Amino acid sequence: MSVRLDGRVAIVTGAGNGIGRAHAMSLAEHGAQVVVNDLGGALDGTGSGGAAERVVEEIRAAGGTAEASTDSIATPDGGAALVRRAMDAFGRVDAVIHNAGILRDRTIAKLSDDDVQSVIDVHLTGAFNVLRPAWPLMAGQGYGRIVLTSSSSGLLGNFGQANYGAAKTGLIGLMHVLSLEGARRGILVNTIAPTAATRMTDGLLGELADRFDPRHVAAVGTFLASEQCEINRHILTVGGGRVGRIFLGVTPGWYSGREPAKPDDILANLDDICRLDDFIVPTSGADEIELIQKVLSQ
Ligand code: NAD
Repeated sequence: MSVRLDGRVAIVTGAGNGIGRAHAMSLAEHGAQVVVNDLGGALDGTGSGGAAERVVEEIRAAGGTAEASTDSIATPDGGAALVRRAMDAFGRVDAVIHNAGILRDRTIAKLSDDDVQSVIDVHLTGAFNVLRPAWPLMAGQGYGRIVLTSSSSGLLGNFGQANYGAAKTGLIGLMHVLSLEGARRGILVNTIAPTAATRMTDGLLGELADRFDPRHVAAVGTFLASEQCEINRHILTVGGGRVGRIFLGVTPGWYSGREPAKPDDILANLDDICRLDDFIVPTSGADEIELIQKVLSQ
């Protein structure tokens, strides 16, 4: 079995540069008809340009099929126009890789309202703007693959990126819920936490920067966007040729008994509460509640 997307239509947001461009080229190489979406702005989200058209030309020159969309996915109208573009050009939507991103790095005391809002608008609200119009199409055909783009900056933390980190981890909540809502309709939702040498990481990856080719990330994106992907609600971390999994685990914990604990009990039992031995990886919020119920009923 090999990964192919022949006959499939894939949308990639922010596909005019960096990782998104690599996703779009790889999807096309593996048979997909690709809608290359990019506003073509600067790293901070200002301005616009012809980045999407350039990638479409590259894909066509390599024998692939692609159409450009210059809609900003930061607005509901832009997201709807992008999905319409895919329907007009190719008649269906099978996969969405939401990859568009901007940066407005500042420590929390220095963040302006616009620094907070604009970053959340592109990364987190942008996902809603594209997925809400795409979802009924996927649900109607009983098939879809959604790939979100998170970041270690939010999942693990990075100084000076409160706006970005919060937006990126908001996408994990979105994945968790959509993966439950989509499973019975053939829609699988997964997330990439990438590291790649792009304008976003210019000067940050040191001497080995050239090892962080965005194409390492694109291999994971194309797999997760394909029919051959059967995993759901996974966060795959990829960069420099390493691919791993990041997950949320829950410790077995400490039980206070029938009477509510006192703050002093929490203090006294903190080691047991936080002990990582035998942690589990729940597949939903209900899973964790079931675990507690099981112990309580014994
Ligand atoms: P990039 O700046 O090269 O690409 C991002 C693209 O998104 C740009 O082409 C930009 O024009 C586009 N974009 C921005 N706002 C848009 C909008 N409103 N509508 C449509 N397009 C828009 O950066 P990249 O490094 O390739 O980042 C791609 C994704 O990966 C981002 O979501 C980023 O946060 C994430 N990420 C990257 C890294 C890394 O190491 N490069 C690490 C963690 C996460």
